[in-house]
Amino acid sequence: MGVEDTSIRRGGYPMNTIPIRALVVEEKDGTFQEQELRLEEPARGEALVRVVATGVCHTDQITRHGDMPMPFPAVLGHEGAGIVERVGEGVTEVTAGDKVIIGWPWCGECRNCLDGQPRYCLRTGDALVSGRRFKGERAGTTAYSRDGKPINGHFFGQSSFATYCQHAREGASGDADRAPGPARLRPGNGCRRGAQ
Ligand SMILES: [Zn+2]
Ligand SMILES: [Zn+2]
Repeated sequence: MGVEDTSIRRGGYPMNTIPIRALVVEEKDGTFQEQELRLEEPARGEALVRVVATGVCHTDQITRHGDMPMPFPAVLGHEGAGIVERVGEGVTEVTAGDKVIIGWPWCGECRNCLDGQPRYCLRTGDALVSGRRFKGERAGTTAYSRDGKPINGHFFGQSSFATYCQHAREGASGDADRAPGPARLRPGNGCRRGAQ
């Protein structure tokens, strides 16, 4: 054996990850099972949020039943709110300690995003239900793992059925305490649905 590669593992776990509790749906029609997973520290452009509350919505239910193209096993939950723990490089929109309502991510580059209509982002499918990061230097990877194997997360950019989540800064709303009235409700599922 040569020098141990601590860049990959330490104490049996991937480096730069934290333990989280999450509700995992193992397969189509599976139940929500509480398990311990590992979550990567925030990458560039991401914020690690301690989830304080989350809505439960029929979208989680129909996804569990396979009506959305989300791959399994997966962590669902898409109406979360919480407190920013840490942010990755390049994140200035939120900082540690901010109370946030977690919105959806968007690409920021397509016709609709550039037109100021991120809710109609042309990459919405990838952004919400690919189970992976959909852009940035780690696009195609997941921040979630179980026993060293990848688990699908990033559901609606958050997978809020967990003690912590990792999401792209575009989904981070401002400080929920300071923001005035309606602005605190960064477009979440209900708002968007109502607008459609
Ligand atoms: Zn919903
Ligand atoms: Zn877009």
